[in-house]
Amino acid sequence: MNPTQYLPMRAKTILNAVNAPSMPFDWSINPYRGCQHGCSFCYARSTHAFLGEAADDAFQHRIFYKDDAPTILRAQLQRMRARGKLPSHVAIGTATDPYQQLEAKAKLTRGCLETLAEFGVGVSITTRSPLVLRDLDLLRALPGVSVNISVHTLDTRIWRTFEPSTPSPARRLECARTLTEAGIRVHAFAAPMLPLLTDGEADTEALVEALANAGVRYMMSSFLRLSTPEVKSWFFSVLRSAHPELAEAYGKLYWHSARLPDSYRRPVYSRIASQMKRYGLSEIGAMEVPKGDAAYVLGSVSGAAPPATAASPHLPTTASPLSSKVVDLPCQPVQLALF
Ligand code: SF4
Repeated sequence: MNPTQYLPMRAKTILNAVNAPSMPFDWSINPYRGCQHGCSFCYARSTHAFLGEAADDAFQHRIFYKDDAPTILRAQLQRMRARGKLPSHVAIGTATDPYQQLEAKAKLTRGCLETLAEFGVGVSITTRSPLVLRDLDLLRALPGVSVNISVHTLDTRIWRTFEPSTPSPARRLECARTLTEAGIRVHAFAAPMLPLLTDGEADTEALVEALANAGVRYMMSSFLRLSTPEVKSWFFSVLRSAHPELAEAYGKLYWHSARLPDSYRRPVYSRIASQMKRYGLSEIGAMEVPKGDAAYVLGSVSGAAPPATAASPHLPTTASPLSSKVVDLPCQPVQLALF
C-alpha cells in the first residue's frame, strides 16, 4: 500500500453555496479532498481529477486539507453576517468524510464546528466514523444538529472488501447509540446497497434490526450507483478480485446505466419499508431538513430525471425509495461547489 501523503491547500472560502434546488441544503463544508476511507464505490473518487490527481489509489492516499479552514470560515461568516446573510444551516461532509483519519490530528472539522457554534449556525454531518463522538460537546451546543451515519451492511467480509479503511459497522452502530443517548438526532444511511451482496432479505432485516436496537429511528437506503467511468472502473476492479463470480451479473446490471433498473430496486425498497415498519423506523423522506430558513422535506423533492453524473458518496442517491417514491438527490453538478 502506498504511504499516505497529506497536502495543504489554501482555500479562499470554506462555506460553499449549493445552488441546486434538488439538494436539501444551501451551504456545505468539506474540509478534505480525497478520503482515507477509500471506499471502492465512492462517487467522489472522480472529483480527484479536478485537482489533477488520478481517481484511483490516489483518492485514498493523497489527501488535500484546507489549511486554516476555521479561520477562513470565521472571516467568511463575519462578511455574511455584515450583509445580513448568515446561513441558518450548513451540511458538513457532503462530498468526503469530515471524520476521516487525518481529522484526528488536523481537527479542521472540529475547528469549523467551533466557528459555526460562535455564529449559532446549525449543522448536519455525514460520516462513516465514530470520531464524530469526539465533538459531542460541540454537537450538544449547536442548534438543530443531526448526524447521518452511513452503514450499508453488517457483513464484516463485505465491509472490509469494499470499504478498506472505514471503522467497522459494529463501531458505527455503537456510535449511533451514543449519539441518540446524548440526544442528538441520528439518521442512518444504508448506502450504497450492493445488489446480490447486501440486499438479501435476511441481510436487510438484520441491518434494520441492528439500527433499531442502536436507538436509530430514521433511515434511508439506496443502491449502488456507478456514475462515472472512473468510479465504475475502480469498483469493478475490486469486485472482480473479491467476487469474480458476480462480475458478469454486475456487468449486465450496470453496463448500460449508472444505476439499477427500477424493476430491480423497487421490490427491495418495498421490502425494506416493511422491515422498517416492523422495527419502528421511519424513512428520512418524511423528515424535515433545514434549508435556509425554510423547512425542506426530502420526500417532496421534485422527481426530476437523474443527471448523468454522480451523486455525493455521502448522500443517498434516492431520497425516499422506501415508500416507492424514487427521488434523486443529485449533487455532482454542484460537486465543485460542494468542495
Ligand atoms: S464513501 Fe465516504 S467514507 Fe467512503 S471514501 Fe467516499 S467520502 Fe470517504
